[in-house]
Order: sequence, then C-alpha cells, then structure tokens
Amino acid sequence: MSRSPRAPFFLLSRMATKYDAIIIGTGQAGPALAVRLAQAGMMVAIIERKRFGGTCVNNGCIPTKTLIASARTAHVARRARDYGVTIPGPVAVDMEKVKARKDAVVRQSSEGLEKWLRDTKNLTVIEGHARFADTHQVRVGDKLLEADKIFINVGGRASVPSLRGIEQVSYLDNSTMMDVDFLPEHLIVIGGSYVGLEFAQMYRRFGSEVTVVEMGPRLVKREDEDISENIKTILEGEDINIRLNAECIGFEKRGDKLAVQVDCSSGDKTVIGSHLLLAVGRVPNTSDLGLEQAGIKVDQRGYIEVDDQLCTNVPGIYALGDCNGRGAFTHTAYNDYEIVAANLLNGDQRRVSDRITAYALYIDPPLGRAGMTEAEVRKSGRKALIGKRPMTQVGRARERSETDGFMKILVDAETKKILGASLLGIECDEVIHSILDVMYANAPYTVIQRAMHIHPTVTELIPTMLEELKPLE
Ligand SMILES: Cc1cc2nc3c(=O)[nH]c(=O)nc-3n(C[C@H](O)[C@H](O)[C@H](O)COP(=O)(O)OP(=O)(O)OC[C@H]3O[C@@H](n4cnc5c(N)ncnc54)[C@H](O)[C@@H]3O)c2cc1C
Repeated sequence: MSRSPRAPFFLLSRMATKYDAIIIGTGQAGPALAVRLAQAGMMVAIIERKRFGGTCVNNGCIPTKTLIASARTAHVARRARDYGVTIPGPVAVDMEKVKARKDAVVRQSSEGLEKWLRDTKNLTVIEGHARFADTHQVRVGDKLLEADKIFINVGGRASVPSLRGIEQVSYLDNSTMMDVDFLPEHLIVIGGSYVGLEFAQMYRRFGSEVTVVEMGPRLVKREDEDISENIKTILEGEDINIRLNAECIGFEKRGDKLAVQVDCSSGDKTVIGSHLLLAVGRVPNTSDLGLEQAGIKVDQRGYIEVDDQLCTNVPGIYALGDCNGRGAFTHTAYNDYEIVAANLLNGDQRRVSDRITAYALYIDPPLGRAGMTEAEVRKSGRKALIGKRPMTQVGRARERSETDGFMKILVDAETKKILGASLLGIECDEVIHSILDVMYANAPYTVIQRAMHIHPTVTELIPTMLEELKPLE
C-alpha cells in the first residue's frame, strides 16, 4: 500500500500553527478587526465556514434592501398615474431578473470582502468550520491553530420553533428566501416583526398574495402601540392580510398547498397558502463551536456572555456581533469591532454601554429609531415632553405623494436632553441621524430646535416638532 506524503492525521492535529490572533467568522466585526490587527503587525488567522461577509452581506441587510428596491420600483410604477405618468400596459415583475440583480450586488460585496482579506499582509484566510480545542487552540478540519487572543464573530441564524406540524411542511427562512426566483402565489409569513414585515411588503409588491401571522396582539411589539397600529394600517393599505393573536399555530399539507391553523380571535381559523416563510427570531451560532472545551460561558439562550468591553469569562477570548446578544444589527456588530480595536490598539477604553440604541425597520416608508420608546420613557417615571407630527404635515412627503406615518420625539423635561425618537415616514431611516447625533453630543434639544435646516426636506420639520413639545401626560 502506498503511503501518503502527508503526515498522519493524529500527528498533524497535534502540531498547532501559532498566530497572535484568531478570528472565527467573517461577519460584520471579524474582517475589519482582522485587517486592523494585521496592519498593527500581528500574525492573524480568520476562519469562515460558509460565505464571506456572513448574514448581512449574503442573507440579510444587503440582499433584502436590494430586493426592497426592486419591489419599491414596481410599487411606484403601479402608482405612476398618481404622478401624471402613463405606463402603457400592466406593470410586470421578472423574478429571475430581480434575483439576478440581487445576486450581483451580493457577489460584489462578498467577493470584494474576500479579496480584501486575502490581499492583507500578515492575514491568513482559512475556510472551514472552527471549533475550540481548548482555551487557546481552535481546530478547523485537520488544522490546529493557536493564539493568545481569539475573537468569536459567529453570528446567528433563523430560529425554527417547534410549532405543531412544522415537520410536515416545507418552509423558507431568510437564507433560503435568497434562492427564490419565482413569484409565490400566496406567501404566508409567520412572525410580524422586523424580518417578516420586510419580506411581506416586498413580496406583496412583487405581486404575491401575502398573509402575516403574528402570535402577539400587535405587530413589532418592541415598538410603541401607535407605531404598531400605523404600520398595520400601511401594510393593510397594500392588501396584506394580517392575522394577530394567532396563539396556537399549526401546519398541515393540503395537496400542493399548505394550511396554517391560526387560532386567532377573529377571522378564519385556517389560512391556505402556497409558500411559508418562518421569521420568528434568531438564534446564535454557538452550539457547534466547542465553547465547553474552552470553558466559555453562554446564557440560557446560547448567547456568549461578555462584559462592557466584549471580553468573555476566559481571558484573551472576546465575542463580537450577534453571538453576544448585545446587539442584533450590522452597525452594533461593527461597533463591537471599534470597541475592541480601540481598547486593544489605542488605549481608548470604549464600552458597549456608551452606545445609544439606533436602528431602522425597512418597510416603506421606513421606521427610524433612536433611544427610548414612549413606553420606556413612561416606565422610567421621569417628567418628559413629547412632540408629534403626522407626515401629512411634511412638505417633502406631500410633494412625493407619500404621506403615510408620523414622527415622534421625547425629551427630558428637566435636562432638556432628547430621550428618544420614532420616525415612521419617507426617508426617516436617514432623518433619524440628525436626532441621534445631537443625542451623542449630549446636547439639549434646543440645539436642534434652533438649527436652520434645508428646505424642502423631512429633517427641516424636526425643529418645528420640537417647537411644539407638550408635557407627556
Ligand atoms: C433578513 C435580515 C435582514 C437584516 N437587515 C438588517 C439591516 O437592514 N440592518 C442591520 O443593521 N442589520 C440587519 N440584519 C441583521 C444583520 O444581518 C446582523 O446583525 C449582522 O449580520 C450580524 O453580524 P455578525 O458579524 O454578528 O454575524 P454574521 O454576519 O452572521 O456572520 C457570522 C459569520 O460567522 C460564520 N461562522 C459561524 N460559525 C462558524 C464556525 N464555527 N466556524 C467558522 N465560521 C463560522 C458564518 O458562516 C458567518 O459568515 C438583518 C438580518 C436578517 C436576517
């Protein structure tokens, strides 16, 4: 029998290749950190088991916002007549081309990222599934890597709850939705929160019938009730069926269709659809990482426990991004990188608790959020002022004939500092930043109230809204 020139597996696996730092995962924190550390002269290895760029680039932010742009174009084209524009014939959506456009945008980001990593001096890219062997060693296939510093950036995936009959039907999640190049006849979306609502509106605009099934009494339950209510009105205005209080959800195959039992307080007890999308939350990718070999602590839901500077309980090991449960967004993951890099390389003691809550929900019009909700302000018991303005009173929205939504801001009555804002309306994912930056400056609301803003914009109405603050009853 001829012998392989390679060393036997048991010998290879004991010889660890030493690095100064190992990074597991190429999501939104890992690559930037890997490059920073390598540029600082450290020998770095970065490991990826699937596609470069992780969720945001391949199955999350970038593809969904690219698809939303196609869906919005179809929506605006259908409304062309409202603007005095005539399109001869009906508006049609070519789903193969929609997907091809999305794939091209994703490919550019993913391949660009991979090239950036591979071209960086002192940085080794390793493809495969990483598992801890002990506190300083990580195994990838037959390779053993060792470093004093290990950074975990493994992200998360769609959660699949054990709902009745789920094993009898096929379902889509945010990853498999990326392969869809046809128009589902009737898409049933389980979950009326951020991911579910984006897909629901997008597919309705592509031309599918869409039903959203939500267990709770309202959509996006983390938001204030008036925001949930307004979002429901916007979506129902586009003929999306919304079923709330679906406390007892079950699935059943019906020929080539599927039946979803929704024990709702109103409406039919069964919804028949052609395709099913599960959008009921995320779970961290931590169960197959060998964390127990390194003694790294996780909480009850599997999130890696970290302190305010993202250190785990094991010295030298850090967790960044969605897997630490301290954020669920690309910008929180990237901010984690900035915090770790500032602490390690600049002696700048940045902390997670320095950041202000900020995110957007990308239905159209979008919801831009910063700081506390009205419910949180009320719960805090402090004296506060509130300002509200419907988008019907915003010139830019009227000029565009897109007047859905409203803006709301909360201010501390004593310190005059802005506590939070919820802006639901055209371009509000951008507008929110004018408020966010004043919050970061820790300046009173009067700074923005006295600022001269450009006309005609949505942002020019923020000072006006602040002019009309009233006590929060
Ligand atoms: C549909 C959808 C839309 C979204 N839209 C937005 C948005 O508009 N804005 C926003 O801010 N956020 C959005 N998000 C959230 C955002 O995508 C995530 O918060 C972000 O990607 C988290 O980044 P991360 O670095 O923590 O991990 P990820 O991006 O998930 O990357 C983790 C990487 O680690 C790899 N990995 C995991 N385990 C191992 C292992 N054992 N060995 C080697 N590699 C491993 C994975 O393959 C993956 O590439 C969206 C999410 C979804 C699902």
